[in-house]
Amino acid sequence: MSVVREDVRHAESACPLDCPDACSLDVSIAGDRVVAVGGSRKNPVTEGYICAKVRRYPEHMYGPTRMLHPGIRTGRKGQGEFRRASWDEALDLVATKMKAVRDIRGGEGIVQVSYGGSNGYLSQDTTDARLFYRLGASRLLRTVCAAPSGSAAMGLYGKMPGVAYQDYAHANLVVVWGMNASVTGIHLVPYILEARKRGAKLVVVDPRRTRLADGADLHLALRPGTDLPVALAVIRWLFESGRADRKFLAETAHGADELERRAWPWTIERASAEAGIAASDLEAFARLYAETSPAALRCGWGPERNRNGGSAIAAILALPAVAGKFGVRGGGYTLSNSGAWKEIDGMAAVAAPEPSTRAINMNRLGAALAERGAGSVDLLFVYNSNPLMTLPEQERVRAGLEREDLFTVVFDPVMTDTARYADVVLPAATFLERTELSRGYGAFVLQKAVAAVPPAGEARPNHEVFAELCRRTGVARADDPESAEDIASVLLRTSRRGEALAKDLSRDGVAFLAEGVAPVQFVDAFPRTPDGKIYLVPEDLDREAPEGLYRYRADVTTARFPLALISPSSDRTISSTLGDLHRAAVPLAMHPGDAAARSVKDGDRVRVFNELGSVRCRARLDSGMREGVVFLPKGLWSHNTDSGTTANALSPDTLTDIGGGACFNDARVEVERLGEA
Ligand code: SF4
Repeated sequence: MSVVREDVRHAESACPLDCPDACSLDVSIAGDRVVAVGGSRKNPVTEGYICAKVRRYPEHMYGPTRMLHPGIRTGRKGQGEFRRASWDEALDLVATKMKAVRDIRGGEGIVQVSYGGSNGYLSQDTTDARLFYRLGASRLLRTVCAAPSGSAAMGLYGKMPGVAYQDYAHANLVVVWGMNASVTGIHLVPYILEARKRGAKLVVVDPRRTRLADGADLHLALRPGTDLPVALAVIRWLFESGRADRKFLAETAHGADELERRAWPWTIERASAEAGIAASDLEAFARLYAETSPAALRCGWGPERNRNGGSAIAAILALPAVAGKFGVRGGGYTLSNSGAWKEIDGMAAVAAPEPSTRAINMNRLGAALAERGAGSVDLLFVYNSNPLMTLPEQERVRAGLEREDLFTVVFDPVMTDTARYADVVLPAATFLERTELSRGYGAFVLQKAVAAVPPAGEARPNHEVFAELCRRTGVARADDPESAEDIASVLLRTSRRGEALAKDLSRDGVAFLAEGVAPVQFVDAFPRTPDGKIYLVPEDLDREAPEGLYRYRADVTTARFPLALISPSSDRTISSTLGDLHRAAVPLAMHPGDAAARSVKDGDRVRVFNELGSVRCRARLDSGMREGVVFLPKGLWSHNTDSGTTANALSPDTLTDIGGGACFNDARVEVERLGEA
C-alpha cells in the first residue's frame, strides 16, 4: 500500500513481547492501519531504536496468516481447514464444551496452555485465570523458561533488582554468561561496547562463538550443562586464594561456609576437564573476576536449560556475593528484573481464589495429553502460546493434538502450527490493537499503551473474550472487573504507590521503580528476602534439588547420540512469536570437524535424530561452534525445516533440578547426511 506522507499520524505504544527490553514504540498509522513501527525514547534503554523483528510487526498484523474471524474445523486435525463462524457461534460452542467437560469429567479435564506470547498484565492472568479457576480447571505450571532461574534468584536474593543496562557502561569487567545479547535484549550491547571503549574487559561464557564472544578478551566455550562445575570452581578458587570477600559475606549472607564446602570438590582442573575448556582459561577468568571492579555479570537463560540448570544459575548468581562485587555502580548481576515490580500483584484482577486442582507442568504437556481414563485432558485451551513448537517432546505433543476426542481451542492473532490442530480458532487482537499495561524484565519500566488502531477483521482482546466466556459458562459475577481500564486500576491499586504510578502512566505512559531508573545493588536495592540477607544455600531449594543444591549430575551424552543439540534464540523470532514472518529454511549449524566425521559438507541435506524424533534440514558448517555441539534455533515453525519438525522434536521432557524447568540442552543427537532426493 502506498501512503501519502501527510496521511500518516503517530501513536505511542510499548512492546509487551517476551523480551527483556520492553521498548517504547513510535507507531506510524495511515487510516486505521499500522504502516511502520519504530522506537521512541520513553523507555531510557530503547534509545529510539528497536529490533528488526518488531519493525516488521505490520506484516504480522496484516499478513496472510492473520486470523480475521473465528473458525470451526472442517478438515483433519493438523490440516488447518476451518469454516468461518460468528463469535456467537464459536463462543457458544466453546462454552458448551467447557460446561460439558466440567459436569461430566470434572473441571480438571480442562487444561489451558499460555506462556510468553505477551508479557502484558492485561493479556494474561486476568479474566482468563478467572474463567479457569472458577471452572476448576487443571492448573498450569509455566515452566518452559525462567522457572529454574526464577527459583534460584528468589531463593538467593528474593529477586533483588539487577544492574541496570545503563550501568554496564560503568563496569571495568563485563561477564556475559549464557546469553546472546546481540539477539536477545539487544539494548544491552551498546552499553557493553561503551565500557569496552573505556578499556573494560569482556568475558563471554557460551558454547558458541557469538558476536560478543568473537571480540571478547576471554571466551569460555563450555560443554552444554557444565556451567555448574565451572561456577563452583571459580567460587572455590576465590575462597582458596583468599580473594573471597569474607567480611561482606559475614555481614550480608547466610550459608557462605556451606557454599564453600559444596564448591570444594571442584578444582579449576576438574571443572575444566568436565567443561572441555583449558584450565588456564578458567583460572584466568577467576583471577580477572577477583581483581577487577566494578564487574557486571549478565546471566542469561542458557545455563538453566539442562538437568543442573537451577543449581548452575544459583552458583553463577553467588559469584558477585563471594567476590564482593556489589555496592558500586556497574557492579553486581542482572538476571530477570521482572521481580522488581512485585509491588504490583499481577493476579489481583482475577477475583477468584486459585483452586487446589491438579497442576500440569507445561514441559510435560505431551505426557499429559497421552493420559487416558480418569486423568485425561478433554479440553485444551491455548492462548498466548504455540505449544507444538515451543514445548519439549514435540512428537508427543503432536500425537496429543491429533486425538479426535480432544477438543482444542486456539486463541491467537495468527494461524500458528498449533492452531492448525484446533477445533475452534478465535482471532486475538495484537498489542497494537488493544490497551496494555506491561513491565520490562530487563529495563526497569512500567508502561501503559492504548490501542493504536482498531483490531483487524473481527479480532478481539484477550480480556474481553475470557470475560465473555465467563458469562457464557455461568461463572461471571456482577462486580467482576472486566474492562481494560478497570483491570489496570485494580492492579495498580495493589501497589502502595498505586496513585502515583497511575498518574505517571496517564501523563507520560511510563513509570519507574521506587528505587529509581538505575538502582545500585546494596546501595539502592537490597535482597528482598525476609531478613534482607543473601541466602547462598536456601533450604527450600536444597530440599527440592534431587541430590541437594549445587550437586552436579553428569553429562547425558551416549555413544549412540554423541552430539549435544542446543537451541538458543535467533534474531528472527521472539520464542516462536513472529515465526509467521520467518519463512526461510533454517540449517543446522555444526563444527567442520563434526561434519567431516560424518561426511557432511556445507549445504548438504541432513537428518538430525535421536530416540525421540528427527529433523531434516540443511547443514551449515560453522567454525564458531564448539566441537560436539550442534545448533538449531528455538522458535522455529514447521515451514522452517524439510520435515516440519524442530529442535523440540529431539528435546526430552525431563526436568531441571529446581523449578521444574525444561532441559532443552540435554538433547543428545546424531547427524547423518541424506541424498538430495
Ligand atoms: S522484541 Fe525486544 S527489542 Fe524488539 S521491540 Fe520488543 S522489546 Fe524491543
